[in-house]
Amino acid sequence: MTQHNSKRMFIGGNWKMNGTREASTVLTTELVAAFEPLAASVDAAVFAPFPYLQHIGSIIRGSGLLLGAQQVSAEANGAFTGQVSAEMLLDVGVQIVIIGHSECRKLLAESDELIGEKVAIALSTGLSVMLCVGETWQERQSGQTEAVCRRQISAALKGIHLDHMGAIQIAYEPIWAIGTGRSASPEDAAISHAALRKDIEDLYDPSLAAATRILYGGSVNSANATSLFSQPEIQGALVGGASLKAADFASILRSASQATSSRPN
Ligand code: PEP
Repeated sequence: MTQHNSKRMFIGGNWKMNGTREASTVLTTELVAAFEPLAASVDAAVFAPFPYLQHIGSIIRGSGLLLGAQQVSAEANGAFTGQVSAEMLLDVGVQIVIIGHSECRKLLAESDELIGEKVAIALSTGLSVMLCVGETWQERQSGQTEAVCRRQISAALKGIHLDHMGAIQIAYEPIWAIGTGRSASPEDAAISHAALRKDIEDLYDPSLAAATRILYGGSVNSANATSLFSQPEIQGALVGGASLKAADFASILRSASQATSSRPN
């Protein structure tokens, strides 16, 4: 698997449970056009709802945009009603999957251990992984941010061999910033990213830690993207709400492209 070039930014659009087939078609068509001049300098993915994956995949084919799914089962197959396996995702053209999103951790009561199992099966099937970690407001207030992130990342990467790490990127998503309009400050996000990078260094080695892309997620929009990306520790964004509007997502892509070109090699 290819190793990330951590200088190059990655922007993911997490559509969550939004849109219709028609609205998603319009959004994707506009995104493909907006992404075309930026594809040489930024990596990007759309994380579409399951029913639209194949259709969206057919629209983005050849554009360089990656097809992402928002969820995957920890099981390979069998009597797991309502779940979707990594093999099935791969079969319909999915390249990358979100694992450990705080909404799934909370609403579906996904444990650290289950998330680790999902990461393992996704990687062994050949999918790339967008691993989400992040603390609640209460945890931040009580000074536990780094410990919570360390616990989450250690459990998620348990048993993951160094050779597979090139297919993983981390999204630091403080839960209090998701969907609230209250982004972390660029400085606070950078501190958490640096701590996560140190965790990866402790779990693996310094060169892998340096090469692992760490994205920020939590109320990223067209107004705050440039200042977030001014922090070299921030190598992209996982975007929820603002990814549903092509003009906003395109603006974030442009900010990422500009940040990439201004960073030293
Ligand atoms: C997310 O859910 O991954 C997210 C970052 O959402 P928002 O951008 O809406 O805060």
